[in-house]
Amino acid sequence: MRFIRVARPDGPAFAALHADEQHAILLQGHPFSEYSLTDQVAPLSKLTILPPVLPSKILCVGKNYAAHAAEMGGEVPTEPLIFSKPSTAVVGPGQEIVLPRLSEEVHHEAELAVVIGRICRQVPVEDAASMVMGYTCANDVTARDLQARDKQWTRAKGFDTFAPLGPWIDTDFDPTAGGAVICRVDGEERQHGTLDDMVFGIAELIAWCSAFATLLPGDVILTGTPDGVGPITAGQTVEVEVEGLGTLSNPVVAEA
Ligand code: MG
Repeated sequence: MRFIRVARPDGPAFAALHADEQHAILLQGHPFSEYSLTDQVAPLSKLTILPPVLPSKILCVGKNYAAHAAEMGGEVPTEPLIFSKPSTAVVGPGQEIVLPRLSEEVHHEAELAVVIGRICRQVPVEDAASMVMGYTCANDVTARDLQARDKQWTRAKGFDTFAPLGPWIDTDFDPTAGGAVICRVDGEERQHGTLDDMVFGIAELIAWCSAFATLLPGDVILTGTPDGVGPITAGQTVEVEVEGLGTLSNPVVAEA
């Protein structure tokens, strides 16, 4: 099943993506608990598509692909290097990434995102898979100049619009199939890794993060980016594709 979130007259609502990928089937209930499909079907072209989830927190792992760690001039960490993005950084598919005036060098980072389905704390690695609701694509947008200047990454990674998520949550996606993680800017490929290249796997990351923080339904873990990160500029469109999952596309604009 692929779940999207859409704007409705009475507020945001979840819907299931129709197999034709052109229509949404509205849900009764909530995909994180009990739900059923209604007979209300609407064309996507007539809907406002929202981020597929609004996480209470976004936890991210740095340098989780060896080739990216190398291009950043560092070693692969011996333990997961975790940072977070605020929920206010989230935007959905098609929504603008706004380049802040405070930065002169903003980079794309294509990543697989894990969406947590259950309240959990101190999850053993062997139980981690049962805490996953599904997967989506993410762009860990980063103000590279501020990342270097600030020494820590809160501001560089946390600007509004710096956490595009989408286009949907796929509950059947299998990350162990080793799909490609690709970034394209205006159609030109900039990053191309595979999920097999991750240093710390998804179960390990869930165990590691839940050892210090209670994970809530809808929380998101970003799993790191392959090599090939680089700048995006106003007027461009940046795409993150995770093979077998989908493609997240966002236009880039300058801050007004
Ligand atoms: Mg990243």
